Amino acid sequence: MTKANHESLLDICRRHGLRITGQRRVILEVLDASGDHPDVEELHRRVAAIEPGINIATVYRTMNKLAEKGLIERHMFEDGRLRYEPAPEQHHDHFINLETGEVVEFRSDEIERLQEEIARKHGFEIVSHKLELYVRARKPR
Ligand SMILES: [Zn+2]
Repeated sequence: MTKANHESLLDICRRHGLRITGQRRVILEVLDASGDHPDVEELHRRVAAIEPGINIATVYRTMNKLAEKGLIERHMFEDGRLRYEPAPEQHHDHFINLETGEVVEFRSDEIERLQEEIARKHGFEIVSHKLELYVRARKPR
């Protein structure tokens, strides 16, 4: 979520024993610098601007590998695009702006607590969850 003082995705991948090729390094750095949850085409565009020879299939394979290891998160919002972000240190949820496609992160301890409470009342414990709020700019009245 916030990028202050966080371990770089590159370092995290090294720590998890991932083989880092020159191309992978660029992909990891570009994703790490992207706060906007890009899809594979967008990610490829950004990577190719730095490393022109890189193939979109390489980007795609790298994302799959990272997702398998739990180092990134994949999101499929209602626009049907599979988007990526480095696995966050702290859980957060998303607003998806239907007018602009922009994805905005938020965290509410109150919502987190309420969800736990409601699950408990139903006899469950939450294993994971994703909350996506589809929004548009509020019109001033
Ligand atoms: Zn996010």
